[in-house]
Amino acid sequence: MLRALIDALFSKADTVQYPYGPVSLPEGFRGAIEFIPERCTGCGLCVRDCPANGLELIRESREDFQLWYYPARCAYCGQCQLTCPRGAISHTNDMVLPTTDPEGLAVLLKTGHKNSNKKQ
Ligand code: SF4
Ligand code: SF4
Repeated sequence: MLRALIDALFSKADTVQYPYGPVSLPEGFRGAIEFIPERCTGCGLCVRDCPANGLELIRESREDFQLWYYPARCAYCGQCQLTCPRGAISHTNDMVLPTTDPEGLAVLLKTGHKNSNKKQ
């Protein structure tokens, strides 16, 4: 027993050190959302198919719209990635960290003509 304890004290940890060190996640892990605004046409299909109400499209005209993302509602299900015909929204392999910043709870992904980054 004492020998096992001493060995454990001086050997490398078997567990990952996350969040204090990097963690290697498997390919296909549905982590943080990545968005490519130039590809988004504001079609709203991702909003229609999101089962968690994690996306919102506010449209005033064909060209004038805002696409919002709410990370706290997101179930990281991958449906928006499957739905988007333009490949504008997808998952990365990055872990999603908790936040205490209220600004991080509503993320403006894309704006049409408007340049505001605040919800109106
Ligand atoms: S990953 Fe799922 S829950 Fe999150 S925004 Fe996309 S469709 Fe909605
Ligand atoms: S992210 Fe894709 S599905 Fe969603 S509004 Fe933009 S183009 Fe349409």
